[in-house]
Amino acid sequence: MKKKLIVGNWKMNGSLAANASLVQALRAGMAEGTACGVALAVPAPYLAQIQSLCAGSRIDLAAQDVSQHEAGAFTGEVSAAMLRDFGVRYVLVGHSERRQFHGESDATVAAKAQRALAAGITPIVCVGETLAEREAGQTEAVVRRQLAAVIHANGRCISEVVVAYEPVWAIGTGKTASPAQAQEVHAALRSQLAAATAHAEAMLLLYGGSMNAANAAQLLAEQDIDGGLVGGASLKASDFLSIIAAAQ
Ligand code: 13P
Repeated sequence: MKKKLIVGNWKMNGSLAANASLVQALRAGMAEGTACGVALAVPAPYLAQIQSLCAGSRIDLAAQDVSQHEAGAFTGEVSAAMLRDFGVRYVLVGHSERRQFHGESDATVAAKAQRALAAGITPIVCVGETLAEREAGQTEAVVRRQLAAVIHANGRCISEVVVAYEPVWAIGTGKTASPAQAQEVHAALRSQLAAATAHAEAMLLLYGGSMNAANAAQLLAEQDIDGGLVGGASLKASDFLSIIAAAQ
């Protein structure tokens, strides 16, 4: 059985004090035998803090974004090599909030995934349709287009990425895709990956969008849902611990 992966995306939340108590509660609450992978995608200024708070634990460090450039005159950007310096294992690329509010194109997202892979960091490539796109029957076409750009740019290395399906209409809205809706998209993504790599079955496909303590088990029971990318519910230790428990 593949190990599932649960990633908390803190987005632009946290403080030195709040982070310390949240991580402490997670460390204390994670069962000895926690079998799934667990990672926290934290704001860049807190990477050093979370790296030290998670030292010696089963929690991996993740970043929320990475520059598509290697180094140099790119004010405000954070490079993959810098993330690597802080022991970052995963980085989100192409989160819908980056696509929507920061104009990231499919090509930019693909370039960011490439930078991460070159630095030895696993990109978590986020794809997902808006409500208008779903209602227009374009869900599969949209996520396929978003993933195709990353496959095209990364060739056979595509087997090293994690893919997260996050329907935009389900993010922060309390509306979760039903397990069947999510599974349908995950199966389509898996078959697209299978056309590009022999390792598609072993790849991790995460679901994100209002995943919580009450709905996680049902979503994670679907055949092609290998984990979760959790926003709001990752900010409360008891909720996030319940999701981790559901992924065993
Ligand atoms: P919510 O879990 O708050 O809906 O956010 C999902 C998400 O965007 C995770 O990246």
